Amino acid sequence: MSSITLMMIKPDAVENGYIGKIIEKVTSSGFKIRALKLTQLSKYDAQRFYYVHRERSFFPDLVNFMSRSPIIAAVLEKKNAVSDFRNLIGSTNPVEADEGTIRNLYASSIAENAVHGSDSDKNAKIEASFHFSGRERF
Ligand code: ADP
Ligand code: MG
Repeated sequence: MSSITLMMIKPDAVENGYIGKIIEKVTSSGFKIRALKLTQLSKYDAQRFYYVHRERSFFPDLVNFMSRSPIIAAVLEKKNAVSDFRNLIGSTNPVEADEGTIRNLYASSIAENAVHGSDSDKNAKIEASFHFSGRERF
């Protein structure tokens, strides 16, 4: 049984020209793209997306970062999509990310860490619906 996860290629990685390299790594790792777009979060969108982190000290910086320039959003499908994608992207802090992971290769810092991946099947569904209408998903 396959499942989905929600990927974002964050503003730092888009600004640094890594869209193609990251998508190539994702698809060659067995993920199927079920939705994909270039979009930009408003500050309000970023506050809603990261609502669980609203009490954290880094929250204002996170909202400013995630809304400062365009992102790629994508729904990815694979068996064990959530956990396999978390393994592919590596630890939140790129200095702790395993060699060859997306954050090891393309992230700048713990704050500007190149990609987002959902942390549960439930949140993957919520986050996919956050970014995509039914007509944008396949
Ligand atoms: P992940 O993206 O690995 O699931 P979290 O859900 O804990 O990580 O945090 C969400 C995002 O908030 C991170 O990807 C990163 O952009 C930012 N962030 C997390 N922890 C910190 C921190 N200690 N300092 C600055 N930014 C952080
Ligand atoms: Mg998270």
